[in-house]
Amino acid sequence: MLGPPGAGKGTQSERFARERAIPKISTGDILREAVQAGNALGRSAKSVMDAGRLVSDDLVIGIVRDRLERRDAAHGFVLDGFPRSLVQLDALDRLVDAQAPLVVVDIEVPEDVLIERLRGRRICANCGWNAAPGVTACAKCGGPLVQRSDDNIGVVRERLKIYQRDTAPILEHYRRRPTFRCVDGNQTQDAVAADIAAAVASVVGGTLA
Ligand code: AMP
Repeated sequence: MLGPPGAGKGTQSERFARERAIPKISTGDILREAVQAGNALGRSAKSVMDAGRLVSDDLVIGIVRDRLERRDAAHGFVLDGFPRSLVQLDALDRLVDAQAPLVVVDIEVPEDVLIERLRGRRICANCGWNAAPGVTACAKCGGPLVQRSDDNIGVVRERLKIYQRDTAPILEHYRRRPTFRCVDGNQTQDAVAADIAAAVASVVGGTLA
């Protein structure tokens, strides 16, 4: 699932994965958990994440490689926030070589809408759940809602800049593949979910959609 920060990748990936009983693998979530746990991975990623920049390719490729080896990913998975660079794109192609097809869905949202969304976004301080607008406590664990440390306006602008520079070019590669689809992310969550399901179905038929 591709798209700029704030496009709804996390929300839509989670929903798609839950409805099909496959794992959602989010490099951002894994890194945030590591930061919260204060382990070595988290310590090396925290300052880069807080600055809105990309963690090193080696680090995230290692995370995804390990996660894809787990049993629950054997029959499909949703990747959220990976790949984000051409090096990661190449690595992913090698990792899923035997598991075709890799369906690539890009969620498109205008930049002014992204900025508004990111500034208003709140997540659960305990479990990282992404809260819907207007919600005051976590629906999963009841925890307090907080702003992500990289959702303040200065860092948001940096993340959008990095997205344009490092991540947008991978779309040009994927766009040439028959398994690439775009959906309009500037609609209700239900409408976006329906478009994603239809997009995936148009590639793989009924297997996952
Ligand atoms: P996200 O939750 O997907 O917006 O990711 C939050 C932050 O984690 C990003 O701004 C990066 O610092 C880091 N990150 C997540 N996924 C990747 C990736 N594939 N490559 C490099 N950095 C990543």
